[in-house]
Amino acid sequence: MTYPTQPEASHFIDGAYVEDDSGAALPVIYPATGETIADLHAATPALIDRALAAAKRAQPAWAAMTGTERGRILRRAADIMRERNRALSELETKDTGKPLQETLVADATSGADALEYFGGLAATLSGEHIQLGDDFIYTRREALGVTVGIGAWNYPTQIACWKAAPALACGNTMVFKPSETTPLCALKVAEILKEAGLPDGVFNVVQGYGEVGAGLVEDERVAKVSLTGSVPTGRRVYAAAASGMKSVTMELGGKSPLVIFDDANVEDAVSAAINANFYSTGQVCSNGTRVFVQDGIREAFLARLSERLGGVKMGDPLDEATNFGPMVSARQREIVEGFIARGREEGARLVAGGGRPTGMSDENGYWVEPTVFADVTDEMTIAREEIFGPVMSVFGFATEEEALERANATIYGLSAGVFTRDLARAHRFVGKLQAGSCWINTYNLTPVEAPFGGMKMSGVGRENGQVAIEHWSQLKTVYVAMGEVEAPY
Ligand code: NDP
Repeated sequence: MTYPTQPEASHFIDGAYVEDDSGAALPVIYPATGETIADLHAATPALIDRALAAAKRAQPAWAAMTGTERGRILRRAADIMRERNRALSELETKDTGKPLQETLVADATSGADALEYFGGLAATLSGEHIQLGDDFIYTRREALGVTVGIGAWNYPTQIACWKAAPALACGNTMVFKPSETTPLCALKVAEILKEAGLPDGVFNVVQGYGEVGAGLVEDERVAKVSLTGSVPTGRRVYAAAASGMKSVTMELGGKSPLVIFDDANVEDAVSAAINANFYSTGQVCSNGTRVFVQDGIREAFLARLSERLGGVKMGDPLDEATNFGPMVSARQREIVEGFIARGREEGARLVAGGGRPTGMSDENGYWVEPTVFADVTDEMTIAREEIFGPVMSVFGFATEEEALERANATIYGLSAGVFTRDLARAHRFVGKLQAGSCWINTYNLTPVEAPFGGMKMSGVGRENGQVAIEHWSQLKTVYVAMGEVEAPY
């Protein structure tokens, strides 16, 4: 079967592709070459209204289906996504620049996992029964209504599915706005859901810049907003949602610590630090960008890290041997290069990378070398601010108490990791870390079964795991009286 990869139009509304050339131009650029691979348009206010109206219209009938019926459609969509993994991964690679080696295993596949997992959970949604003598109470778990999902650019398919799967499982409908930088793959998610039998209007995609997202958030038909993005955007979206008393999930940025004790397996710790900083060219919210290495093994760690960086293979992201891609955009490269310059100016010791690679077949791609700074101090800009690029900062530390205090000394609280062979210490340490996801002797594994989300400025609410159901549904309490009604007069 031949499978047309490019989406047919900019938007997917009420079960069909929709184009409207009067919206602002939205060129899609392949980050490895700088070439324009698609020309989309932002949604006009009329199209935003059309998408919300479709979602509103479709919601009661969708919620009235049984969970088993809803779940079956989601699980069918998961199967289709897995069958088309290669085509979807190639599109994701063109959209984001991430190497195909990664997209084949981390994007459509994890989206499919979410559709399958929440498809299964849909049939289990229930309230509870509370007996009070002869009277009793029961609770109904109900949908919220029309919801909005807004995505960042690093994992477009995964973000669309992490939001849509639990939302739809609970009987909500959704209007999803991808990042304007990577708008293509969410359209394929919509197309596949339709093919799997999703009724028209249940999942809609509209493109646009921030103001399209803002228009969606402010609309009074919307009951809930789930954003994956930066803290500044999160603040704005949370505030706009608050005025309408809407529920929110905020999956925001991080500056996560990875703490490696002297007794750790150095090889594993180096592997984790590489994954935690250079996977997806460092464009991962949960990355462990502050790598604290205890004094006894720090030089050994840095030496082995430098050797291992010899295995980086940059090049055509569609070549499966390539294991390191370009930044998503020229703008993001500029931001990352600015941070690298600050690191140098503020006295961090550059031990790897720091520039643009030479000899690339296409010099127009947005390449930055994997970069490592050692001797970083807690006050430096690169130690405090989210870089969202391939820049690892290595710090020293002497004691467990010191490592804990410094690991927590950040406004963020998304993730954290600890490497040690002393399991009592590992659990003691993790118990005091201020982070939503912690890993012991590994890093950045985020299976759909695991609740994911941030503490402190990194977010509100959780995605994934059974707990996500609570964030996409509401309880109605029903008190049933079996006897006479008493009154004072
Ligand atoms: P942004 O915050 O810039 O944008 C996120 C999304 O919000 C985009 O679709 C954006 O649209 C939209 N948006 C911008 N302004 C508004 C507004 N006022 N109202 C509604 N929507 C708006 O994030 P990036 O796309 O740059 O992604 C990187 C950030 O995302 C990093 O901070 C990263 O840590 C975080 N992230 C968090 C994850 C998590 O799960 N915790 C996972 C992945 C990333 P547009 O792009 O068109 O401006």
